[in-house]
Amino acid sequence: MNRYLNYKKAFGLYIHIPFCQSKCNYCDFYSIKYTPQKMREYVDMLKKEIELYADKLINNRCRTIYLGGGTPSLLSPQLIEEILITVFNSFNVVENVEISMEANPESLTECKIKAYREMGINRLSLGIQSFLDEELKFLGRSHDVIDSINAIIKVEKHFDNYNIDLIFALFRQTFLNFVYSLNQVLDFNPSHISLYKLQIEDGTKLYKRFKDKKTNLISEELDYKMYNHAIKKLQEAGYNHYEISNFSRDEHRSKHNIIYWKYEPYLGLGPAAHGFNGKQRYKNYSNFRKYIYELKKGRLPVQDIIKLNKKEMIFESMFMGLRLTEGIDVEKFKSKFDVSIFDIYDNVLQELKEDNLIVVDKKRIYLTKKGLNLANLVFSKLIL
Ligand code: SF4
Repeated sequence: MNRYLNYKKAFGLYIHIPFCQSKCNYCDFYSIKYTPQKMREYVDMLKKEIELYADKLINNRCRTIYLGGGTPSLLSPQLIEEILITVFNSFNVVENVEISMEANPESLTECKIKAYREMGINRLSLGIQSFLDEELKFLGRSHDVIDSINAIIKVEKHFDNYNIDLIFALFRQTFLNFVYSLNQVLDFNPSHISLYKLQIEDGTKLYKRFKDKKTNLISEELDYKMYNHAIKKLQEAGYNHYEISNFSRDEHRSKHNIIYWKYEPYLGLGPAAHGFNGKQRYKNYSNFRKYIYELKKGRLPVQDIIKLNKKEMIFESMFMGLRLTEGIDVEKFKSKFDVSIFDIYDNVLQELKEDNLIVVDKKRIYLTKKGLNLANLVFSKLIL
């Protein structure tokens, strides 16, 4: 058996739904324009991919299910249900599994929301991004603020566990505009909030405008001011800041995303999806036609298999683990890699500690408030 198929532990299942209404200006995820025919064809091939894995994996125990994209909510409840039935028939899914789905406001109707909930989806993640139309326009989103508000009102009727995504540090965004959007989110009181800083990724429309000097980044000072204000406000409102960009009420942390941050195994399906069994990673073709073609031939649509060496794995587990505010468990690190974290990073940890970027105690290592603001700097020091 190919070693990348050797999953020793239960995995999180990521299913990529590669359709969007149009392309947002900042987005570098793989997605294509949807048509009903393509969606039907896609779901048929995705079911084949699930069944092929079920055939090939020795351990097919599944801990979480996450439908991401793209825009999964463009798919009708019937198509989503077909996918989930195939997952449940093919894998050994744990009881009370978290089933998350990403959704965009313009693609949601109450009928769809109700049907998603009734089929067993128990967490919705809404791409809201801002409560100001001019900012949504800058981001190239397909919805306006009224669509967002209508969608949230319908979602909260059927889901007690839902997330709102917000993007900050937009070009020309003022502190007050950011505070306005944040307060709107707080008024809805969702169980989970993700707060992402705008990234200008190569190949996006924003990147082109950035290079042509038609757009810019906001100052670092303002960016930190927004981020620190959000942490304070959200904590005061009772949210637990459990990851650099994520805040939850009570027990509503994203179980699926915690799998990534704890560097545990996940299986990725759909074009451009990645999988990781704890030692090796694979990547699917990022091309819809090639993906369909491989599956029609009865083959897994895997383009690359990457075997990671120990140094790469240690670095990756460090920078993923430090994203969690609880940080890295020193003992668990030792039993995973058979070496003490202090033997590998002694000087670096000392230096980061002196710069007040991390806290090091006998049990855990985690980012300070300053470290949360300068996380990329911390991660760059950990490369082996
Ligand atoms: S809806 Fe999401 S996946 Fe689709 S283009 Fe916009 S940001 Fe990208």
